[in-house]
Amino acid sequence: MQEACPNCNTIVSPGQKFCPGCGQKNKLPRITVRVLIKDFLQYIFNAEKGILNLLKGLATRPGHVVTEFAEGKRKKYFNPFSFLAICVAFMVLMNSWIKPYAAISAVPKEYVLDRIPGEETKDIYRLTVKREAQIQGFFNRNMNFGTLITAPFFAFFLWLFFQRRGRNMAETAVAFILLTAFISMVHGVLISPGLAMTRDSNIHSYLTLAAISMESFYYAWGLKKFFGYKTSGGYFKILLVLWLAGLIGMVLILVFYYIYVYHGGASIVLQYL
Ligand SMILES: [Zn+2]
Repeated sequence: MQEACPNCNTIVSPGQKFCPGCGQKNKLPRITVRVLIKDFLQYIFNAEKGILNLLKGLATRPGHVVTEFAEGKRKKYFNPFSFLAICVAFMVLMNSWIKPYAAISAVPKEYVLDRIPGEETKDIYRLTVKREAQIQGFFNRNMNFGTLITAPFFAFFLWLFFQRRGRNMAETAVAFILLTAFISMVHGVLISPGLAMTRDSNIHSYLTLAAISMESFYYAWGLKKFFGYKTSGGYFKILLVLWLAGLIGMVLILVFYYIYVYHGGASIVLQYL
């Protein structure tokens, strides 16, 4: 005897385990505490298995994972956005716990104020200090969202240069997001403690730079197979495009910084620092 699916009303023949219309399991048991617990455990277990699969894959064969994902193996892994959300949440927790970023004081330096002759210039300097601390604070608090903003930016550049390799922009963005999520996780565990320890010394900037360089090697490693390159030439091409995009991004940030923080008073303020 044929029955209608309780979820979407499609007719389901007795032999079918799943509804052909919506994929819901035929013959669902009534919800009981036991079923609830079983479903919950199954969900956690499946999610964990998916995440562990993804983490392991991204650590050992990132090119393979992002390529497989783009080519349709999606159920094997975890949803990339959920994965990114989990990795970013993890990074937020780690960062709010160990505080790896250098804090910038919002208090103007007395000796700089003494050097500045006019009251008007002093005000420009005070505003500069305030805005600098404001921006630094914003980036420290929203570092993780910074990661999210950079993903489309880099994906666009990669697509621009490698569109002939047969990947569209969305596929490129997803590949980049998967790699970014993994990097955030590794960054939170391995790099952030080092950054926190060197917060007040010169090593801090070198360590940041070293971390960013290492991360670009990882991206190139993961994207080489994704863009169908078999030689190291492809690897270096990807690396160059990533660095170019990074450089352009940095210039954009500097321009914004120059306009907003120094608000046209850069030439006046900088000579007294
Ligand atoms: Zn159905």
